[in-house]
Amino acid sequence: MERFQLYINGEFVDGAGWFDSLDPASGRVWAQMPEARETEVNRAVDAAHAAFSAPAWAGLTATARGKLLYRLADLVQEAAPRLAALETRDTGKVIRETSAQIAYVAEYYRYYAGLADKIEGAHLPIDKPDMEVWTRREPVGVVAAIVPWNSQLFLSAVKLGPALAAGCTVVLKASEDGPAPLLELGRLVDKAGFPAGVVNIISGFGAQCGAVLTRHRKVAHIAFTGGPETAAHVVRGAAENLATTSLELGGKSPFIVFDDADLDSAANAQISGIFAATGQSCVAGSRLLVQQGVKDRFLAILRDKAAAIRIAAPDDMTTEVGPLCTARQRDGIIAAIRASIDAGAKVITGGQPLAGDGFYFPPTIMDCTDAPDADCLRKELFGPVLSVVAFETEEQALQLANDTQYGLAAGVFTKDLTRAHRMIRQLRAGIVWVNTYRAVSPIAPFGGVGLSGQGREGGLAAALDYTTVKTVWLRTSDDPIPDPFIMR
Ligand code: NAD
Repeated sequence: MERFQLYINGEFVDGAGWFDSLDPASGRVWAQMPEARETEVNRAVDAAHAAFSAPAWAGLTATARGKLLYRLADLVQEAAPRLAALETRDTGKVIRETSAQIAYVAEYYRYYAGLADKIEGAHLPIDKPDMEVWTRREPVGVVAAIVPWNSQLFLSAVKLGPALAAGCTVVLKASEDGPAPLLELGRLVDKAGFPAGVVNIISGFGAQCGAVLTRHRKVAHIAFTGGPETAAHVVRGAAENLATTSLELGGKSPFIVFDDADLDSAANAQISGIFAATGQSCVAGSRLLVQQGVKDRFLAILRDKAAAIRIAAPDDMTTEVGPLCTARQRDGIIAAIRASIDAGAKVITGGQPLAGDGFYFPPTIMDCTDAPDADCLRKELFGPVLSVVAFETEEQALQLANDTQYGLAAGVFTKDLTRAHRMIRQLRAGIVWVNTYRAVSPIAPFGGVGLSGQGREGGLAAALDYTTVKTVWLRTSDDPIPDPFIMR
């Protein structure tokens, strides 16, 4: 059986013990993962803290840091088949998605490699002739990066890239579910030549590992992706040391189809928005709001497309929907569907777990028009379940779309440009996709509002989150300082 190791201070080491990792396609143990507890967390944070000010890292120019990130990007690209296969094996995410996503991962590292020497301070035109004043953008210190299981390589690249470009050091905590690809990433970080302690990668559980990390007094910033309840724990932990946080959380994103939309194109986007990655995507367009006049036609297209989806083993390149990552995940979905049916929702397609081994659940569509409080309409299920509500007017669509505490993404399908602009302005979400869905780029900020989080990943702004501003005043006059009792 394969065993993985932690990566701490430039060494591959065992943890306090081991925990089993299940293959979601069979439900059987396939590997053993190292468990980091307090001792290992402390060692990792101490290593990152020492590396932060050691000359091997602190003495590097920004351009040199960028070169290390370029090297990491190349290594990720070279190792793509192994990384994608590991992610598929350990999380059940289909290989056609993991192998495509790994190309994005390399692109994110390249984007931040190029950005490293473009994080600039500013010269300030102060109204004092004997002063030169400027700002420096300095790294905040040790970053704790915590990710969930659904896209660990991608979600860690959007944290490691800007943090390292800015000059921070990092302790990256993999999820307890499916940590294999991140532990493997340690080998590439090591090979890229980052000095020991700059990047440390650990795996472990929330209470024994994540909570210890977020409370550590040497952690300056926590970049967290996960659920809103866990985020509240993270923020409480951060508050003990006044560490800053950036939070990328879940969603219940509306996907709005007006009666003038190109229905075929909208249906493909909706299928991608809810059934790709088996629905385990933070930006899943899990609430379809469809205008009454096209509801039946649109649902008929969706039903046909859903019926044609190939559900099979995730390591088969032709598979479109694979297993969910955990049995817990599948059982939560089953319970939510039962409760929704009791609340008046109707199953249009799917709704029952598939027989056999593994954590499979079929693409499911629920009509919730008469069940406004159904769990599958309100809660983030993180699975292949689409909840549908019909609307009559634009105002009603907007009211339904914004009737949630989440605010990550929204999709709008219409050919009416002025209506699209009105929707863009009034939708409460961090990302609005018009006539498209689930598109990302390292150049474009990504994040949400409300229960969907705070801060943005991607783009220049994300790198600035890992910096702090130092203002420098330099007096250029040799004359004695005038009246010391007056503030200059
Ligand atoms: P989770 O919140 O249960 O776990 C996320 C991480 O937090 C894991 O590594 C876990 O070990 C750790 N953790 C748990 N308790 C902790 C604690 N007390 N202190 C510190 N760390 C702790 O999330 P999950 O179920 O693994 O993932 C699914 C969630 O992630 C969904 O809500 C999904 O929407 C969200 N997500 C968001 C984005 C985004 O970018 N907005 C992307 C992917 C997933």
